[in-house]
Amino acid sequence: MKPTETQKVPRRGKRIGECLVEAGLIDHETLAKALEIQKSQKKKIGQILIEMGVADDVTIAKALAEQLKLPFVTLKKKKISNEVIKLVPAELSENYLLIPLKVENRKLVVAMVNPLDLYALDDLRFVTNIAIQIAVAPQQDILDAIERYYPKPGLEKGFETETDEEHGVELIRRVETDEKDLLRLMQIAELPPVVRLANSILADAIKLKASDVHIEPQKTAVIIRYRIDGIMREIMQTDKHVHASLVSRIKILSNMDISIRRKPQDGRFQLKFSGDIYDMRVSSIPTSYGEKLTLRILNPKAAAMGIGELGFSGRELEIFENSIDAPQGIILVTGPTGSGKSSTLYACLNRINTSSVNIVTVEDPVEFDIKGISQIQINPAAGVTFASGLRSILRQDPDVVMIGEIRDGETASIALQAAQTGHLVFSTLHTNDAPAAITRLIDLGVEPFLIADALLMVAGQRLVRGICQHCKIPHDLSFQFISKLPIDINGAKEKTFWKGAGCEKCQYTGYSGRLGIFEVLKITPAIKRMIVPDVSASKIRTAAIKEGFRPMCLDGISKAIQGLTTVEEVFRVSPPGPELLEQQYISTPISREEKLVEEPPAGPSFAIKNVNPKKILVADDNQIIIKLLVNILESENYHVVSAADGLEALKLAHQEKPDLIITDYLMPEMGGMELIKKLKSQLSTRVIPIIMLTAKDEVEFEVAAIDAGADDYVTKPLDARRIVARVARLLNR
Ligand SMILES: [Zn+2]
Repeated sequence: MKPTETQKVPRRGKRIGECLVEAGLIDHETLAKALEIQKSQKKKIGQILIEMGVADDVTIAKALAEQLKLPFVTLKKKKISNEVIKLVPAELSENYLLIPLKVENRKLVVAMVNPLDLYALDDLRFVTNIAIQIAVAPQQDILDAIERYYPKPGLEKGFETETDEEHGVELIRRVETDEKDLLRLMQIAELPPVVRLANSILADAIKLKASDVHIEPQKTAVIIRYRIDGIMREIMQTDKHVHASLVSRIKILSNMDISIRRKPQDGRFQLKFSGDIYDMRVSSIPTSYGEKLTLRILNPKAAAMGIGELGFSGRELEIFENSIDAPQGIILVTGPTGSGKSSTLYACLNRINTSSVNIVTVEDPVEFDIKGISQIQINPAAGVTFASGLRSILRQDPDVVMIGEIRDGETASIALQAAQTGHLVFSTLHTNDAPAAITRLIDLGVEPFLIADALLMVAGQRLVRGICQHCKIPHDLSFQFISKLPIDINGAKEKTFWKGAGCEKCQYTGYSGRLGIFEVLKITPAIKRMIVPDVSASKIRTAAIKEGFRPMCLDGISKAIQGLTTVEEVFRVSPPGPELLEQQYISTPISREEKLVEEPPAGPSFAIKNVNPKKILVADDNQIIIKLLVNILESENYHVVSAADGLEALKLAHQEKPDLIITDYLMPEMGGMELIKKLKSQLSTRVIPIIMLTAKDEVEFEVAAIDAGADDYVTKPLDARRIVARVARLLNR
């Protein structure tokens, strides 16, 4: 459902006007007049009737209360405790004209002007997480009470950036471009429940040190996943109906166009959490179930790291630092996406960034703003590519140039030429290891002599997960494996290896945080001589090892011995190279202790689900009704399972995972209301839509059923066309 539509179209249930006609307070003609006025004035119908002089607010409230069999209350003499007021945010009270009165029998009693406002009930339940008991109060009473209990802050306060004290999140919004057009959608996106949900998703992501947040719509649910330490983890599922507003909320924050839903978009915003400002890069892509959002969280601290903090050890650090201090030449960092290459480059820039050095970067995107450095963002649509950006940079005669990535021959050639003519150049290449950088440059068409002349050093790197230091225990690797290590690194054969046992702090994964493992290839005279058109990476590698080059996986093992990571983790990101395997380095693969899911599991289950008929669970103690429903639904190609009472229905709901449930109101063992409450209280069954079926055609039953969490309400006697239409509507929602 689009948010615009949910606001305009009255949902299930009666409207207040019809109810007042039934109560005998007004006639159809008056209602028609009032509705006509409403079209132009956009006021609430009660307010219009008051202004028309048809009735006052007290009479309307009394009539509604009587008609709906709800208590009528006045508020003038009522004292409401602060604890109760705090349960409902001011915006919600003002928006829906309601006020919480008390908590009684584990229910929040709320006085409302319009008890038929199901949006209000949905939001109240969402925000308070308590069952709601409705009372009706006159409009003026509620307005007065809101003024009394929710005092308005000073005007200037409204202009401050909003804060959510609960999560300590402060959102720093960029300037809106077209305020008016966005206003309506913004209103929905800024309802307290949506704001709160978005804030807690962001706050939790930062708390858990996630690098990415994925908001993925599915058929009936929205899945929120975080990437933590490089691994995707499902955090929560929530109702599909919050998807549009949640996505709108984040798109508004990111200054994206919320009216565009079928084209990919990018945006960004900043977020303050515990005193640190985080940059959020947001991208949206359309999927068959709606927009999928991905948020990349950039921690500015990552850009402020020094070379010493990256995790280079001994010999590698020395080569690295010597290369950076060279007056000219090119330094390359290699690795796949997400291996921490950017952090390494930024650390290099931090080291040489003084006022006497002119540093310029060309990046895609500019990940962190660094003081004192000119940073250019590539923009192919505007003709700014790595190559063209680099050309214009070089005209400004910088001392140091950083190129985000070398992807093409043109960029490679310009970069190498610049490195040969008095510039220190830093860049990254997407290769598996350091020696492969040389052959990649040759493949990109750079003259081998140019490479030999300009290249100073190539670093290869990966990120591995660190062992959680709170639950670290010795970990006996197989003796077979350790005894076959070709080199006795730091006396590895006598050393203890470690792993995390899993504790609350690491969410029972045994891992916490990440660190880099590296290999550093120094371009020595011997290596230079090897750079000829048909040289292979493995040949360079073998020669380098003779000169002391230590492959990344050995750096990893050395870090495993230090208790920083596990050997499994090292081999996950950097399997032992051929030169080690040739030495019978490893004869049996290391078993993985946990299944690592880097990407969402492939979707055969989805495909099958789409082809298979939808499953509907029908619960009724009347066998005739069951038979009728089975006939109706099966003729529409649904697969039907049936239960004779509520208890059986609850069991089947968990076992069969139906796509929809139709339940009777009165049943032995467990009634329909209790069944709905139980289904809605559990994450695994919460998303299943439920239709309440009953002979009672009275508004208060409908309100009660919807209040309990039913998604729709159908009265007996059964009408085949009606039930089929309702089922289809809920399943397509
Ligand atoms: Zn732990």
